[in-house]
Amino acid sequence: MSSFISKLDLAVRYHESIGEQHMANYLRNQLDVLRNITEHKKDYLVTSYYVPGELLELLDVEVVYMERLAGLAAAWRIFDKPVFRATTKGFSACSCSYQAIFDLLIEDEVIPKPVGFVALSYTCNDAWMYCKTAAEKHSVPFYFINVPKTSDNDHQKHFAKQLEELYHQLKISFPAKTSMEDVVTASNEAQEIKSQIDTVRLKTPGNIIDFFKLFPLYNDLGKKSTVEILKHFKSKLESNASKSSEDITGILWLGVLPLYRNSIILDIEKKLGCKIVCEEMFDFGNIKLTRNIFFENLAQRIMCSRFFSFENRIEAMFKSIRDFGVKGIIHFSQRNCMFLPPMVPLIRKKAEEEKIPFVEINGDVVDPDYFDEERAWNQLEFFYEQIHWRP
Ligand code: SF4
Repeated sequence: MSSFISKLDLAVRYHESIGEQHMANYLRNQLDVLRNITEHKKDYLVTSYYVPGELLELLDVEVVYMERLAGLAAAWRIFDKPVFRATTKGFSACSCSYQAIFDLLIEDEVIPKPVGFVALSYTCNDAWMYCKTAAEKHSVPFYFINVPKTSDNDHQKHFAKQLEELYHQLKISFPAKTSMEDVVTASNEAQEIKSQIDTVRLKTPGNIIDFFKLFPLYNDLGKKSTVEILKHFKSKLESNASKSSEDITGILWLGVLPLYRNSIILDIEKKLGCKIVCEEMFDFGNIKLTRNIFFENLAQRIMCSRFFSFENRIEAMFKSIRDFGVKGIIHFSQRNCMFLPPMVPLIRKKAEEEKIPFVEINGDVVDPDYFDEERAWNQLEFFYEQIHWRP
């Protein structure tokens, strides 16, 4: 058994033993995928984050969302110095470490070679360009959609058509697995429970770390198991909500967490006398699907998503600030990411206009060698003064 599988297996049993069924089920699904592609040698596709899970759930093929598996490998420290190791094997030093660690998983034969890569141009160039290069290197098909940059009706229709074509292309190689009715029902049920979770967390913000761990459930919309995981998560939040009624200084976290050090959240809350009440990743788009306009709905969901435009992100961000009564913003900027950090100057400006203290922390969420935690704490001390002592 590989160390990745045994660590995931241990994590599943740990969460079961402490009654965290939502996390146990979520991780068990990832463990099953890992076992299927390694021990049981099932064919699998690698995909980038926004390729709709519902489209792939229709087909009988294992699917590995690249960023999610890379994130799990980083969280369980499967590699020491992953960026250094990847660059010595020829991986570009300027690329995002999510792809670096994923590439290492294949290079070091932790996982076998996939049978194809599927990518959208949205969100970042790094992800789809990696998929293209890796597909060429491994001589497997590369399925790609260049997502239009504007979301007017015509572009949305064109994008929906491309998604439908992608489905038909994949159907040539992979047989049907689930009916569209079942996928639509499961996706809509998951969206419904997600909305209920949002209502619960608004009344009493829970442990934010679980939201960071579970946001990739977005990739599993359309699966029945996602509905069950969300139900468990909701009841966990409800039982915690009834125990808590504290007065808090709420903080909004933007970007992702250092995956190898997610306890930094609790340390920040303790030292800064605050609570991270919301983040921007646990967002499923809240578009319900209809069978006869399935692909249009999927296109619409992507084009309405919060990272699709700066305006979308700002609007969603300031809605959270109002809803949660946020008193400060922490933005974690991923090293070498050319997608989210370039928005920071505009977010900072908008926060200044709204008189909300803002701090940008830089680092690498995958590789601890590139996170200067001491520097981050110095910045956070200044941030503390701004949120607690501002007039
Ligand atoms: S961190 Fe940035 S560059 Fe890396 S996968 Fe995410 S959006 Fe792309």
